[in-house]
Amino acid sequence: MKTFSIAIHGGAGTLVKGMMTPDLEAAYKSALKLALTEGYKVIENDGNAVKAVEVAVKYLEDSHLFNAGKGSVFTAAGTHEMDASIMDGKTLEAGAVSLITGIKNPVTLAKDVMEKSEHVFLAGEGAMEFAKQLDYKIEDDSYFYDEFRHNQWLEIKDTDSFQLDHSTKKDSKFGTVGAVACDKDGNIAAATSTGGMTNKKWGRVGDSPMIGSGNYANNKTCAVSCTGSGEFFIRAVVAYDVSCLMEHKGLSLKEASQEVVNKRLLEIKGDGGLIAVDANGNIAMPFNTEGMYRASKSSSGKEEISIYK
Ligand code: ASP
Repeated sequence: MKTFSIAIHGGAGTLVKGMMTPDLEAAYKSALKLALTEGYKVIENDGNAVKAVEVAVKYLEDSHLFNAGKGSVFTAAGTHEMDASIMDGKTLEAGAVSLITGIKNPVTLAKDVMEKSEHVFLAGEGAMEFAKQLDYKIEDDSYFYDEFRHNQWLEIKDTDSFQLDHSTKKDSKFGTVGAVACDKDGNIAAATSTGGMTNKKWGRVGDSPMIGSGNYANNKTCAVSCTGSGEFFIRAVVAYDVSCLMEHKGLSLKEASQEVVNKRLLEIKGDGGLIAVDANGNIAMPFNTEGMYRASKSSSGKEEISIYK
C-alpha cells in the first residue's frame, strides 16, 4: 500500500520559551495530538484527504488555544472576523471564506463553498448569507470570548497598531491553524483557518483564505498550508511558489519548501512557516521563526509533535 500521511500546524511565531509553562506546553501538545489523530483516522478508515484536513482543522478550531474558530482574536471593533480555505489536489477545486462571524467551524463553510456553490471565494455579508441558506447556526459572541485574547486586544485597542498573534514577545499563545494530507489513493488536500490579526480593521484579510498564498493543493506537486505574517505570504504567493518550484524546477517537496521559507520569504523579511505533503506521503514543515506548533503522522510509522526547533 502507498504511504499516507497528515501534517497539521497551530501557527508559527516567536515563542518565548520562558513564557511557556510545562502545563501550557502539555495542553498545546495534547490539542495537536487530538487533531492529528482524528485526521489520521479518517484516512486510515479509507476517507479522502479533503475530509481528513477538514476534520483535523475542525478540532483545532474547537480549541481555545489557537487563533481560529473558538480562539479567534479580537478585531478593532471588538468582534471576531474569521477566514478559511480548503483545496482538493485531485480536482483543483477550492473553497474559501473571509470576514465571517459567528461560525463555529469556518473550514466547513469553506468546504461548502467548494462543494455547494459555483464559486471559490465568498466574503463578508454574502458569505454569511450563504451560511444562513445552509442553516448554519450562528454562535453568540460569548462562544468566541477568551480572557487571554481579550486582554491582548485591550492593550492595543484604540491605537493604530495591530498585532499578529506571532509578533508580540509577551504572547505565548497564537496560531492560525492548518492541515495537509495525502490519502491511500495518493490524493492530497490542504486547509487553513484563522482569526487573523488582533485589532485588525478595514476588512483586513491575510493569506489564509487566499488560494495560492496561504493554501494550495495539486496532486502533481504538493499540498501546502501556511502561517505567518500574511501580508508577506500574499506578496510572495508562498503556497503556489512551493508547487511551482516542484513543477517547473523539479525540486523535491523538502527543497522547494525550504527555498521558499528560508530564502525567498526571508529576502522580503517575511516571518512564518508552512506544512506540506506530496502525493507520495512525504512531509515537510519548515519555518523561519523560533517555533511553530506542528505535528505529523505517516503510515510509515513516524509521528512528531513539536513546538520549538
Ligand atoms: N497568516 C495569518 C494572517 O496573516 C496569521 C497567522 O498565520 O497566524 O492572517
